[in-house]
Amino acid sequence: MSAILDAIETKKSKGELSEDLIREVVAGYTAGDVHDYQMASLLMAIFIRGMDYGETLALTRAMAESGKTYSFPECVDKHSTGGVGDKVSLTALPIVAACGAPVAKLSGRGLGATGGTVDKLESIPGFSCDLSEERFTRQVEEVGLAIIEAGELAPADKEIYALRDTTGTVDSLPLIGSSIVSKKAATGAGHLLYDVKRGSGAFMRTTEEARELADLLVRLSDDLGIGASALITAMDNPLGSAVGNALEVRESISLLKNEPVTDDLANEVSHIATRLLELKGIPESATAVEKALSSGSAYEKFEGFVSAQGGNREALENIPVSATVSEVKAPRDGYVAGFAAAGIGSAALALGAGRARKADKIDPGSGIELLVKPGDPLQEGQPVARLYGEREAERATHLVLKALEISAEPVDPPPAILDSL
Ligand code: URA
Repeated sequence: MSAILDAIETKKSKGELSEDLIREVVAGYTAGDVHDYQMASLLMAIFIRGMDYGETLALTRAMAESGKTYSFPECVDKHSTGGVGDKVSLTALPIVAACGAPVAKLSGRGLGATGGTVDKLESIPGFSCDLSEERFTRQVEEVGLAIIEAGELAPADKEIYALRDTTGTVDSLPLIGSSIVSKKAATGAGHLLYDVKRGSGAFMRTTEEARELADLLVRLSDDLGIGASALITAMDNPLGSAVGNALEVRESISLLKNEPVTDDLANEVSHIATRLLELKGIPESATAVEKALSSGSAYEKFEGFVSAQGGNREALENIPVSATVSEVKAPRDGYVAGFAAAGIGSAALALGAGRARKADKIDPGSGIELLVKPGDPLQEGQPVARLYGEREAERATHLVLKALEISAEPVDPPPAILDSL
């Protein structure tokens, strides 16, 4: 019996897959010897029957070793499970690099309502994440911060993830955990912080689900030699004010220049930067983060990183955004109870800031600027959001109004950091 058929039969009858069998199947699929329909059948069997920790670790290792592997034991990295307006990589990473913790990071593009760091950075004219291994390594050494798109790393995950996306097998804990950690292990940073988001705009809807994923990510990483920890953060509301690629880069630049941004964003970025420095063993981390912002060294690091990856440094002063702008107004008096992240993500998608399907083209200058945050008082007719972009602006207006929750009573802003492990 072929390895793939053996694996399907084993899972179908609730058996355990051996490490050798997992390796053979992953290698066969990456080489094109296992057909999509066979792999899809195995993924559905895994989705239904689950995998124990040993099988999940074996799958993670096999996918991590399916292509090139890098090694940056001195470097830190962070991974977010994805959210709306999540620009923590754009901000926390230049801060930690400015504090002496080098960063070697692998990033992806956005799919659905959540954005991707590669798309955000590419809204800077000239910027590219398509770096050769040699250039990536040199930039980590010389600049202390480099971000690359997956490319040749963990090719098995790329193929399997695309198949999961079209066969209803994405939301399986062992498949998510092995997918995320395989890419991180292939990139090879020695210290890793996972930001596991939970809420309406996230993959994980409840704190318990998020904790389960966080536990798995940390355990898999530790077993693959990466010093890891995790945070659970809220994604009921978008993070900060900007949602959309160029708009998020603009907001990130404001933060890095130590200009005022919303409290939720400022606090979460400082917290994550501090945790990354702690992982690396840098003393007085919180003070170092504050200094990097107030001295301008974090912004200088960002400028150096942008020009090293082909971006136009001068353009940072005025990243282009869509000239088609409209405002959404509050329908009544009250207090902002929330701006449902899932709804705002869908509105940004309608404007062109994201992709419903992988092949869709985004409009980098489109998106939404939220003008109020949870807890703010509201008056009828007050502008609550500014929409940028020409595609489906009417539908986006409707979605933003639907996402806005108004309370008659005063509201406390919700906490951003929910748990830490
Ligand atoms: N992100 C990944 O990289 N993989 C998954 O399976 C889910 C989210």
